[in-house]
Amino acid sequence: MKTKLLLISLLAALQLSAQSYQKIHNKAILVDTHNDFLTQTMEKNFVFDTNLKGKTHSDLSRMKEGGVDVQFFSVWSDGEQVNPYAFANRQIDSLDAVISRNPDKIVKVATSKELLKTVKQKKIAALIGVEGGHQFENDLGKLESLYNRDVRYISLTWNNSTPWATSAADETNPDGAKNSEDKKGLTAFGKQIVQKMNSLGMMVDVSHSGEQTFYDVIATTKKPIIASHSSVYALCPHPRNLKDDQIKAIAKNGGVIQINFNSGFIDPTVDNRESAFLEKHKSEIDSLAQAGLHPFIAQESIYVKYADESQQLRAPFEMVIQHIEYVINLVGVDYVGIGSDFDGIFLPPKQLDDVTDYPLITKALFEKGYSETAIDKILGGNLLRVLKANE
Ligand SMILES: [Zn+2]
Repeated sequence: MKTKLLLISLLAALQLSAQSYQKIHNKAILVDTHNDFLTQTMEKNFVFDTNLKGKTHSDLSRMKEGGVDVQFFSVWSDGEQVNPYAFANRQIDSLDAVISRNPDKIVKVATSKELLKTVKQKKIAALIGVEGGHQFENDLGKLESLYNRDVRYISLTWNNSTPWATSAADETNPDGAKNSEDKKGLTAFGKQIVQKMNSLGMMVDVSHSGEQTFYDVIATTKKPIIASHSSVYALCPHPRNLKDDQIKAIAKNGGVIQINFNSGFIDPTVDNRESAFLEKHKSEIDSLAQAGLHPFIAQESIYVKYADESQQLRAPFEMVIQHIEYVINLVGVDYVGIGSDFDGIFLPPKQLDDVTDYPLITKALFEKGYSETAIDKILGGNLLRVLKANE
């Protein structure tokens, strides 16, 4: 009898916990600053407002199911793209088409005021982040046109540097020491771009930027900045992650670090294991690329084909929470958020299979004893503060 009573009260406690974190999750404004679905549209013709379960990390109804309130859709092209500005606009067109078909579910917003109104109406607020400054083709007029299409952040570089900002990939390239061009940071024109973004009300994103570029941005910007999808270097020393001094500099600037879910940025053991996996299947990837697939898509198809092997590479879920907590312990709860990189990564951590799994983050934070106020900040409040400060 005693065991039975104990079991009942244990079950009741569990249920209470489930109710509480779900309630917090539903009430909070969940902002994700980096989702690459538009690339899936361009490369594979996937349509966001259809059921893509098992094919992508996200679609419209699953995003709603996961409790996403605000999504920054990433507009991306690699450095090889001919006419990247036109390509960027085509991606924005594809999002606009989805939105015009679903006005009761998703709305494009230009200001934090519109954003809050949309969230209140239980619709997803959509904004755009341009990933890679090469996409406005060194033209401040085109930069402004992107702002007019509701682009509210630009990552100054992707893996490729621009003529005016060096990327993390180039700055950490082993040949970089021989080539000072690879470490030059922001040029005078690069500083002008940061100032222009400040005056328009467009957040400067330092994810993918090299360290020199990062510190030049910190010295130039008059507004808080973001790292839209980067994690913690001290826990996983990858060039795409932020070192402690960078995290401190962002906190001092009033900005925010949006933790990336990519297993290779979360778990330091993944990179080597993933390289071995890719090496093993190299000839197959190469022949797919030679047949005309984009190299990223060629790789992705190998992760799917050899799922038994690739799934083993995923980081433990708990490590995502460790990255969030690391930032909190270093600089406080006001400077961290979520930039999943869903549909731009092949290996999200275990349990975070797709956008319906965001409540697991809330559950983990709740069970660790974080207050509702703290959880609200992490899920989106911090990013909204930075967005507002940029307007
Ligand atoms: Zn990226």
